[in-house]
Amino acid sequence: MKTQIKRAVLLGGSALIVLLSGFGIFTGMRGMLKDIRQWEADNILYFYSENIKLQLHGSLNEADLLAQSALILGTEDPQWLDIAAASLMENPAVKQVYLFEGDTLVRALPQASEKVQEGKKLKDFSYAYTLAKVVKELVIEGPVVEMHHVPQSVFLFLQPFTQQGAYLGLVVVALDSDYVLEQFSFDYFQNAGYDYELWRVDQQTGRKEIVISSNAEMDFSQAAKTNFYLPTEWNLSIQPVDGWISPRQNMLVAAVTLAEMLLLGLLLAAFVQLQNKNRKLRKIAVHDPGTGLYNRTGFCQKLDLWLRQSSAPVQLFYLVFEGYDQTAQLMGPEQENTVLKGLYPRLNAYIQSPFLAGRLSAGNLVVAIRDEMDAQQREDFARGLSLELMLKVRIMETKKFLTAQVQHALCTLEPAQDQLEVLIRKYYLRSGNLSPIHSLTQKIQRLIQGQNGIVFDEDADLEILELSKALNQYRKKAEQMAYSDPAFKVGNRMKYQRDVNVLIQYDKRRRFRLYCIDICSFSQYNELFSADVGDKILREVILRLSRVFGSNLYRINGDVFLGIQQSSENQEQLSQQLHELLSRPVTTGKASLNLEVRIAVCSYPQHGSTPENLLDRVQAALRHAKQTNLPTVIYNSKLDQLLRTETEILHQLQARILDQTLEVWYQPLRDLPTKQYLAAEALVRLPDLKGGYYSAAQVVALAERSQMVEQLGDYVLVQACLYMKHQGKALGLQRMSVNLSVQQLLINGSAEHLLTLIKSCGIDLSLITLEITESVLIQSLEQASATLEQLRKAGIRIALDDFGVGYSSLNYLSNLTVDVIKIDRSLTKQILTSSKQYTLLKAIVEMAAVNHLSVVAEGIETEEEKQMIEELGVQYIQGYFYSKPKRAEELNEFLSEQNRKKFQSEQNRKKFQ
Ligand code: C2E
Ligand code: MG
Ligand code: MG
Repeated sequence: MKTQIKRAVLLGGSALIVLLSGFGIFTGMRGMLKDIRQWEADNILYFYSENIKLQLHGSLNEADLLAQSALILGTEDPQWLDIAAASLMENPAVKQVYLFEGDTLVRALPQASEKVQEGKKLKDFSYAYTLAKVVKELVIEGPVVEMHHVPQSVFLFLQPFTQQGAYLGLVVVALDSDYVLEQFSFDYFQNAGYDYELWRVDQQTGRKEIVISSNAEMDFSQAAKTNFYLPTEWNLSIQPVDGWISPRQNMLVAAVTLAEMLLLGLLLAAFVQLQNKNRKLRKIAVHDPGTGLYNRTGFCQKLDLWLRQSSAPVQLFYLVFEGYDQTAQLMGPEQENTVLKGLYPRLNAYIQSPFLAGRLSAGNLVVAIRDEMDAQQREDFARGLSLELMLKVRIMETKKFLTAQVQHALCTLEPAQDQLEVLIRKYYLRSGNLSPIHSLTQKIQRLIQGQNGIVFDEDADLEILELSKALNQYRKKAEQMAYSDPAFKVGNRMKYQRDVNVLIQYDKRRRFRLYCIDICSFSQYNELFSADVGDKILREVILRLSRVFGSNLYRINGDVFLGIQQSSENQEQLSQQLHELLSRPVTTGKASLNLEVRIAVCSYPQHGSTPENLLDRVQAALRHAKQTNLPTVIYNSKLDQLLRTETEILHQLQARILDQTLEVWYQPLRDLPTKQYLAAEALVRLPDLKGGYYSAAQVVALAERSQMVEQLGDYVLVQACLYMKHQGKALGLQRMSVNLSVQQLLINGSAEHLLTLIKSCGIDLSLITLEITESVLIQSLEQASATLEQLRKAGIRIALDDFGVGYSSLNYLSNLTVDVIKIDRSLTKQILTSSKQYTLLKAIVEMAAVNHLSVVAEGIETEEEKQMIEELGVQYIQGYFYSKPKRAEELNEFLSEQNRKKFQSEQNRKKFQ
């Protein structure tokens, strides 16, 4: 009933809100609309009244000039008026002109009729004539009907002329009223949708006289008005033809209002529904659905409230129906429901004082009573409660009774939750028979499920304590096995993950750093000495690192360690300390080894929020340290950017190889003796997203690191072969150089693969030169030389690229099975300034000549460099001095142009011979 009333009030209230807001919006919007239109009307009116005044005082005031002439010429001979007004009289709109001297009419044009006599007095005319004399300024009267020859409606312009403020006379011009009104262009109002009315107040009668009106029937009482003085009062009123708010606008406002009301209604309904749901949820959150009593949360909340509200004693009773679960299963849900529903009424009947009751789990209840009791009374009460709540159930035609065991206590001011726990523990300690074992079993089960942080030594019972200790030891051992490296007794990757997770879960805001330490060329120790020596080194490293990282040290991979540092020590200092710590020689047997390490660092939470994330980052930083040969790399956003660029490059490279849009450019090589371009080098070009190209060296290095270089190399080789076949050869190129990564050479069967590829393009093998970077080749000479030999035998030429950069030694040059050496720009650049480099280059060229090797000088940019190189006897030049790398079409044009020039010079030579 109560809720029904509540619901009705809520509904009525909502409807009222909707209606009121609808009314508010409707009137508000209409008011606003009207205000806007009236503002517009006021502007129009202002403009019009100003315009009317201007016209009446200005262009329409024909009397003004005559009045001035009267002043200058005097009025002794009024005949002057005939001459002065002659042109004026030609205007059909000018109906009369009068000249008064003082109060007397001295001249009237056209010639005065019998009715208007010259010599007539001012006062014989209308009130307006006298008014002009009094105010001594222009007075306009109209429209008035002048009774002259024929009655006519005119506007009178009465312009007095004065001298030093003294009135002398008056010139009156009567203008046809239609003409005057026409000048005001009132049509505008109608075009803009307004009715109008120009009216004035008769000074004598005080009556309203309408001068002109667009609609005589119209009631202008609601119109927008303005008034002005000429000098009598004139008024102009306008009003929209279809009212200030048109029916269409009215409908629109009504529609908007309705829509708003509907929306508001819906919102209110949704709000009410949400409230209802919330209330229900709150109820569910604190109530036990089966009994209608509180659940644990609800009970604790209420009890806390009780304890705060008053200091009156509260007694707490914990009731356990042992074996409830099995009984419930046997009696079935229907009977259980009845049993549970009956609990509250029974409690209510038994307890006389205020009480709270809750159901903690299936057969566990808790009751708090606000009443004073001593220990004995509590004991008695508990017994009574147990009896009162005895559950009588019928299982398969036999009656069964379930009695509750009761544990009780006097409530203190501690939080209810804590008091409850104490009470429950007391109960289990007392009843002893099942609880500790039960709890132990549960913990073991949780452990089996893989939960962390399970500890067994909580229970006070002596025997159980022993068992718990044993279990704890076993747990530690099992964890050690899962989380540590058995050979070196140091944490493994899994432990790292667990520890970081625990750290983060414990306090998300607490910062820490992750260090990754890698021993440079560790494998060489295993190879040079033995695995034992390798192990010894690792053990020593672990020992030294544990001094810094303690138990937060992990070996994640052969010679790669992770360390977590939680102190706020400066990371650079710590890295330095680690370097020093590890650079101290490690002695094994007689050998004393100096280790070199790379260190990478990243921080939580700046660089990652999960162990995996942080590990990724720190490994990326380590990779960077190895590539750049830096001893320490601290992860930063630039590195992040670099990694992103690298990812982008790889992505682009893959996509462009797949859809065959990766570009290959060609740089021509000039043969100095013949002054012709006989060869070219193919260079890969990968467009970036900004309209330029990524550096070829960066692309190739990345491809090498990502096992993509074979794909890349094959693509460039095929493109270069096809270019030779279809264009290059015809344009005079005798060779095409293609760069080969050493990785390509080291793949099994690479020679066959390359030869097949070239042949499949349909060109002769002798057209191709494969370039291999000297420094890299030397490192893997043994493995690569067989492949190179095979390629050479098949007719391919091999060039040693970037000669002079790395290992460069002249000694092995004679033993190398190559055909061409390409001297790197870093060497050729220096010959102008360094005599040492000049001598070196000279020796290389000579050595090459002895071994029948061709020499290409790379990177020639200036005339001087070119001359010097030429003098040294180098055969080929490749450099910007002659041409930068070009797209295929550009190279075609370039070569055609060269051929044309050569042809012409030959022709010229022949002519002169
Ligand atoms: P590289 O094989 O030594 O190629 C010559 C490089 O020197 C080219 O750089 C070329 O543009 C540049 N160069 C030529 N003349 C001049 C000059 O007068 N002044 C200067 N400053 N530079 C000049 P690019 O194209 O950036 O290529 C860089 C390196 O990338 C190449 O050096 C080569 O080792 C590698 N590379 C390029 N394309 C490929 C490819 O398809 N496969 C492989 N494996 N490596 C490639
Ligand atoms: Mg090259
Ligand atoms: Mg080179």
